[in-house]
Amino acid sequence: MSTSRPTILLFRNDLRLSDHAALTAACAAGRSVICLYVNDPHPADPMGGAQRWWLHHALSAMAAQIAQLGGQLVLRSGPTQTVLSQVIAETGADEVHWSRRYTPKAVAADTDLKTQLKAQGIRAESHAGRYLFEPWQVATKSGTHFRVFTPFWRACLAQLDQVSPALPIPADLKLYRQLPSEDLPDWGLLPTRPNWAAGFGPLWTPGEAGAFARLGHFLSSRAHGYAEGRDFPAEARVSYLSPHLQMGEVTPRQILASLRRAEATGDIGERDATKFLAELGWREFAAYLLYHTPSLPDVEFQPKFAPFPWRDAPDDLIAWQHGQTGYPIVDAGMRELWQTGTMHNRVRMIVASFLTKHLRIDWRTGLVWFHDTLLDADVASNAASWQWVAGCRADAAPYFRIFNPITQAAKFDPSGAYIRQWVPELSALPDRYLGAPWQAPEAALHGACVRLGASYPHPIVDHANARSAALDAFGGLSLKS
Ligand SMILES: Cc1cc2nc3c(=O)[nH]c(=O)nc-3n(C[C@H](O)[C@H](O)[C@H](O)COP(=O)(O)OP(=O)(O)OC[C@H]3O[C@@H](n4cnc5c(N)ncnc54)[C@H](O)[C@@H]3O)c2cc1C
Repeated sequence: MSTSRPTILLFRNDLRLSDHAALTAACAAGRSVICLYVNDPHPADPMGGAQRWWLHHALSAMAAQIAQLGGQLVLRSGPTQTVLSQVIAETGADEVHWSRRYTPKAVAADTDLKTQLKAQGIRAESHAGRYLFEPWQVATKSGTHFRVFTPFWRACLAQLDQVSPALPIPADLKLYRQLPSEDLPDWGLLPTRPNWAAGFGPLWTPGEAGAFARLGHFLSSRAHGYAEGRDFPAEARVSYLSPHLQMGEVTPRQILASLRRAEATGDIGERDATKFLAELGWREFAAYLLYHTPSLPDVEFQPKFAPFPWRDAPDDLIAWQHGQTGYPIVDAGMRELWQTGTMHNRVRMIVASFLTKHLRIDWRTGLVWFHDTLLDADVASNAASWQWVAGCRADAAPYFRIFNPITQAAKFDPSGAYIRQWVPELSALPDRYLGAPWQAPEAALHGACVRLGASYPHPIVDHANARSAALDAFGGLSLKS
């Protein structure tokens, strides 16, 4: 009898039990569910080092959550197709459900998987949940896809009321009996020697419960004033939800529902709520752009920028990666990234602009570093953002607008609290010199125990020269169209 057969729920970057359409479908007709996570040696989108740390803890949290419900998160290594065939042979399962992924490589892998399972007589079904809208649900009036954010988001908002309510954890969840499972620590997801992730633990709680705690904390005590505060890195007025969203521990429609409730209770005003929702819109747009432009992580969105003469400057790249450029706001950001696995959005823009414009190092090099070091590393958001900063996206800031790291520091870190936190060797400098210590008089440097070139580097490039060199390089391109 087919209904007595178990169903497999294949988890990937959807590590939650609530608002999980695939899990809800897997439980239909009273079937018992095998919760499976596969450590595939050739995943469609390999994770960077920081995200592997997150994955370890998210899987561990999820295993505990499932165990509390009397079930088991089955961990297996091997090619996904092979592992699925083994589990099917062991259990007689005849259905596999999973959450849809949208990156070009994941779409190809999942299409292939579906074909292979169907050929074995196994029902394979994918389900939505990662975004408010799937990339094919939003189109221009003429049926083409959007290339710029504002009309895209307007079109999304026009159909926001059609987003269905978030699903609860299925009440009829029946979990399959025990199966052989591997030990998570054996997967080696955590760094050991050196343990560069030592600073992550106190800051983050991977897992569904951690995601909801973060969301609740943000909406009840941080969201008020978000629209303005979100630009000031020292204020911590942002949600820090991105790694949870990336691992699928909370869904955008759960966030939307919580946002509406917080608006109703007055915890967040309309302006702040609109701005916060629009940031989720940027996430939607990045996934949409990537889906419709699969070359986004590799090739300039506007081909006219492709011939830009990038510099091969390994020493400058190392200085940028290590937070040793001599520009305190850049160095603060790069050190925050290394020590915490995240970086404030405003500072991401400043450091990315510095790499691509001041140092003229290829945006793809920065993208790779971010992918390895960010806990929220996301193929779509990372590529879309780097292309935006480098100026080659359709809706990017004009290429001649080059972030000035000195004035950006003065404007967005006026008290210097952010720079002082991450570049402590400058902490005794008066506020007005913090963004550009080389402009401080000798007495001020001396008084603050700063020795340029010894305790803190000289700037690796001169801002004005670097700016004009970047503009010259852009000037050599045909940018008319
Ligand atoms: C060069 C560069 C690279 C980036 N790489 C990534 C990345 O790999 N992964 C990633 O999630 N974000 C990336 N971002 C976008 C943004 O910096 C982060 O999403 C944001 O800082 C996360 O912090 P938060 O959750 O506190 O954001 P909040 O301000 O609280 O925003 C709420 C949510 O909206 C989404 N969001 C906010 N801003 C953006 C944005 N500009 N683009 C896309 N989504 C956004 C995130 O999911 C975020 O969690 C990048 C930005 C830049 C400039």
